[in-house]
Amino acid sequence: MIQLIRGFKDILPNEIELWKHIEQTAMMLFESFGFRQIRIPVLEKAELFQRSIGEHTDIVEKEMYTFPTSKGELITLRPEATASVVRSYIQQRLYAKDPIQKLYTIGPMFRKERPQKGRYRQFYQINAEAFGVSSPYMDAQLIFMLTVFFQRLSITGLKVHLNSLGCPACRPAFKRALSEMLMERSDALCSECIRRRGTNPLRVLDCKVPGCQEVVKNAPAITDYLCEDCARHFDEVKASLGRMDIPYEVSPRLVRGLDYYTRTAFEIQTDELGAQNAVAGGGRYDNLVEALGGPSQPAIGFAIGLDRLVDLALTKTRVPELPPDIFIAAMGEAARQKAFEWSCELGREGVKTEVDFSSRSLKALMKRANRLGAGHVLIVGDQELDQGTAILRNMRTKAQAQIEISGILSGIKGQLRAASDRQPYEDGQTNTPKPKT
Ligand code: ATP
Ligand code: MG
Repeated sequence: MIQLIRGFKDILPNEIELWKHIEQTAMMLFESFGFRQIRIPVLEKAELFQRSIGEHTDIVEKEMYTFPTSKGELITLRPEATASVVRSYIQQRLYAKDPIQKLYTIGPMFRKERPQKGRYRQFYQINAEAFGVSSPYMDAQLIFMLTVFFQRLSITGLKVHLNSLGCPACRPAFKRALSEMLMERSDALCSECIRRRGTNPLRVLDCKVPGCQEVVKNAPAITDYLCEDCARHFDEVKASLGRMDIPYEVSPRLVRGLDYYTRTAFEIQTDELGAQNAVAGGGRYDNLVEALGGPSQPAIGFAIGLDRLVDLALTKTRVPELPPDIFIAAMGEAARQKAFEWSCELGREGVKTEVDFSSRSLKALMKRANRLGAGHVLIVGDQELDQGTAILRNMRTKAQAQIEISGILSGIKGQLRAASDRQPYEDGQTNTPKPKT
């Protein structure tokens, strides 16, 4: 048997309801904050990621799936979405009509990392990017929106870690100080950090090797090096979060794994997923649009790791169940033919219908209806057909009603509606969604 590739996975139908629920929650919420969906390709020119994420980052140095085309051009399976959204903002001139564009996208990303729990080679992200606004209110609003998103999924116990990475005016001084400090600690750094401390010392702060993390504890704090503008911006982000009662922790060693960030950087962490503790991360990238050949426009965005979020949501989030409204149990060929026609018509009208076209016994059919959690079962055999009636059984109350075969569709819809009106859940939702009429 051919197996799937290591680090890749199937997401099966019994898991999908939760994925859909999470995605729909994000879409609805983000749209209320003025975000619109964008879909970008999974393949882009390698250069796009090299230039945006940065040459000396884990992603570009070793995690990208890059292939040559037949013409020898290097293309890459996207390791993240921001670069592509920025490319699209520039290439499609989205800024021309209105430089303020708030966009979100959902889809798979690819990184050649060592597979382990919470870390896959194809994983999924929900991304949101806001272009054209430099105000710290935007930063705070994005983080606010994220916390509401997690609340809606009943996911608690998350912590917002916040930092400012400064700007090209103030960061060089910090980099120098950090680099000097790292030079003195060569003995304790991993070989990769020794190599990088000169080219990209910020990456050392992000290294997950325990020895390096120990060294980093005594590193200078970037927040001590911010220029006046960056410091004021950071203060405003913090004050605005405070105004909306969003708890956060300033983490001066938080740098994130991508080079394009400026000013605000943040990560949302949980202590319930072991080593893979980051559920979402983001930050401002005020210079990236221009660096990639677009107009000078500020921007900020974040990515939520869907796979890790689903792991958390498994035990916390209640997904509304949508069992079939009706299961048609037909016995005999004539009845099955009717069942075929009725199920087509009911499905067309949005009544969630399940039907079994096999010639099984009533007992077997009822067992299947039960397993599916069907609200009602329509029982019809050749004998019922002759009499011009069928039996509609309410699977919760066990009440049975005779229903005329002439006009059966409106009869079924009437019964379903009546049953759903009578059986509200405590939270006011009905267990059988009302069929559209
Ligand atoms: P980590 O530090 O865990 O490697 P990251 O900083 O590389 O995460 P980002 O590039 O910021 O992650 O992506 C945002 C989110 O995407 C992360 O917070 C995480 O939830 C998720 N994510 C990143 N890489 C993977 C992966 N290989 N498998 C599953 N989820 C991932
Ligand atoms: Mg990573």
